[in-house]
Amino acid sequence: MHHMTLAEIARGLADKKFSSEELTKVLLARIAQLDPQLNSFISLTEELALSQAKAADARRAGGESGALLGAPIAHKDLFCTQGIRTSCGSKMLDNFKAPYDATVVAKLAAAGTVTLGKTNMDEFAMGSANESSYYGAVKNPWNLEHVPGGSSGGSAAAVAARLLPAATATDTGGSIRQPAAFTNLTGLKPTYGRVSRWGMIAYASSLDQGGPLARTAEDCAILLQGMAGFDPNDSTSIDEPVPDYSASLNGSLQGLRIGVPKEYFSAGLDPRIAELVHNSVKELEKLGAIIKQISLPNMQHAIPAYYVIAPAEASSNLSRFDGVRFGYRCENPENLTDLYKRSRGEGFGAEVQRRIMVGAYALSAGYYDAYYLKAQKIRRLVKNDFMAAFNEVDIILGPTTPNPAWKLGAKTSDPVAEYLEDVYTITANLAGLPGLSMPAGFVDGLPVGVQLLAPYFQEGRLLNVAHQYQLNTDWHTRTPTGF
Ligand code: GLN
Repeated sequence: MHHMTLAEIARGLADKKFSSEELTKVLLARIAQLDPQLNSFISLTEELALSQAKAADARRAGGESGALLGAPIAHKDLFCTQGIRTSCGSKMLDNFKAPYDATVVAKLAAAGTVTLGKTNMDEFAMGSANESSYYGAVKNPWNLEHVPGGSSGGSAAAVAARLLPAATATDTGGSIRQPAAFTNLTGLKPTYGRVSRWGMIAYASSLDQGGPLARTAEDCAILLQGMAGFDPNDSTSIDEPVPDYSASLNGSLQGLRIGVPKEYFSAGLDPRIAELVHNSVKELEKLGAIIKQISLPNMQHAIPAYYVIAPAEASSNLSRFDGVRFGYRCENPENLTDLYKRSRGEGFGAEVQRRIMVGAYALSAGYYDAYYLKAQKIRRLVKNDFMAAFNEVDIILGPTTPNPAWKLGAKTSDPVAEYLEDVYTITANLAGLPGLSMPAGFVDGLPVGVQLLAPYFQEGRLLNVAHQYQLNTDWHTRTPTGF
């Protein structure tokens, strides 16, 4: 049962082959048995899951239908869940029970999803390896000695190990696409403003965006349908109608113009990944796509710009965690300054503190123009590159990551080495564009992803291309040994 995709589950439930309650019990047992190897969950919500499953079964019995009605999922532990710990992977919020549901959580619950638990993540979504969590590192089910990618590594590892069919995740600089690539999943970062950020604990507000992690493009379409839409509670939510994503899957790729940026194939890219990217291009050409070489000349500046902007926003967002209003408070503070200092010093981990310091420095008087303003100008140049490229092509294709998943611990002492691994994903966040990673082969037994980028609000086009690719390849169906 645990091998079923969301689409298969929906059909099975509709045909009364099994109930949501039966399926939920199977998956909860599987999580109890296998997750100790992976550490992909921070909290399990068995009772909630069983009551939601029973309610979904009752709704189906009453004649209701819907692709998500009775579908088991999990939420990355930065989506607020009412009355349930929402830790953001941090000691700071270890004792925090959210007083309300994030819009994404509420929308998916209304659609009938069953929440199995909250997934592990890098602390405050800062990381590319899922090693900065207060709750310990997550392991990659393809090789337990390797990282699953970050920051949504818990969601990715759990879905890849068939503990559940799909999960929510968020992407500030690649945290949906990069773990998808590292664990052989399909992950979609929507257009900025497509999915509400209300109740999603903020890392860098101008970059953060929630989206689906699943095994197939078809399932990403189903989950995104339940997540997307205008939300008056989020001032950056965009009031655009939500198309039927599942209906977009079957379009023909005949004549689709795919741009491959020449800058993507630089010395930093593992040549074996380059070869798999070229293979995916050939596959899409067979389906009728036309390939063009394009250029994104400012790409080389994107990492330094991102690693100024994201920490700057983080330093501001994380100032609310002060030992007074939320979460962790130090023991016996001597005075208010001591309370702030020790609560933050003890509650935040090393990477979060590093980013707060970098961000506060970049925003400080005297340095603001040199760093933050400069980074914002680069951000505009990065966006302009994409706008020019999308005058010529419909989709941009390239690797999701320069290397496959590295060994646990390999980069923990060198944060910049880890930042450099985000080179292909962060540009989409700087520009606010939608991006998708899909499975495209293996290197040394570790999965490799190909990334597709599209113009604003063209999530349907990304899903269409990925679905057609998946109808003609079987990378996404491969299962890690032991799971
Ligand atoms: N690795 C990037 C960072 O640490 C992206 C993280 C994310 O998308 N949440 O900032």
